[in-house]
Amino acid sequence: MANIVERPLRNPLSRRERARVREKVRPENDADIRVSRFHKNVRWIHHLSTIYGGRGFLRSHRNYPRSTQDRIDLRIETLIVGPLQTNAYIILDEASGEAAVVDPGAAGLRISDAIEAAGATLKFILTTHGHADHTGGAFDLQRKAGGEYVVGEGDRSQIESPPSSLAAMIPGFANPPAIDRPVTGGEHLEIGDTRIFVIATPGHTPGSVCYLAGQAIFTGDTLFQNSIGRYDLPGGDGDQELQSIRDNLLTLPNQMIVYPGHGPSSTIGEERANNPFLQGV
Ligand SMILES: [Zn+2]
Repeated sequence: MANIVERPLRNPLSRRERARVREKVRPENDADIRVSRFHKNVRWIHHLSTIYGGRGFLRSHRNYPRSTQDRIDLRIETLIVGPLQTNAYIILDEASGEAAVVDPGAAGLRISDAIEAAGATLKFILTTHGHADHTGGAFDLQRKAGGEYVVGEGDRSQIESPPSSLAAMIPGFANPPAIDRPVTGGEHLEIGDTRIFVIATPGHTPGSVCYLAGQAIFTGDTLFQNSIGRYDLPGGDGDQELQSIRDNLLTLPNQMIVYPGHGPSSTIGEERANNPFLQGV
């Protein structure tokens, strides 16, 4: 099923991905907390402004390098949810106890339990794009834990009337909640003193966005380890997707950690060097 919905046209599955596909699909309430990372980034944002001044990223995201943050302590947890093994991420600002979730694709109650267990307050439910395998748990999560629902404006129609063909694939799918905060890229949100920057990356869908916090970039189905999102679904545009990646993701530092919507994490540097879809773009 994963091949049908979220894989790009010529995606070579990595050995690790093939192993995951072979794994028995976990029931929704048994979502698996896979990774816990701690970021201690000192003056990271200041450095970026020096390194990347003048590139496309800065033109469209002026708030980013002007941040006055000089320290970010983030904890990022990954939960693999639903039949398409979507990565749902919890971003926790440790100093304040405030959190955001990226793409609760299913298992909304399981995600809210994880937030409660961390003693965190959920401020935002961030959606990278409107496909059902990324939005399926949002209703339950917001009902249980609150938080503003944040969606790229270009995907409003997919949120407000999800295609039944996709929604039918997610067990217990409930239509997403009403959009609290539509975004178009260039905005930032705050959990504690941590800024989460919204980066427009249309292509996989018209309203696809990525979220950047500290040294982490959450790329949804725009950029995967060794692959990119498919662009043959309704509203997809391959040229636009590559342009988004080239101008707004590959302009980031090599050390930036990529947290994609499916599959293992990576870095911008690894994708720049090895991703077969990005050679020569
Ligand atoms: Zn998608």
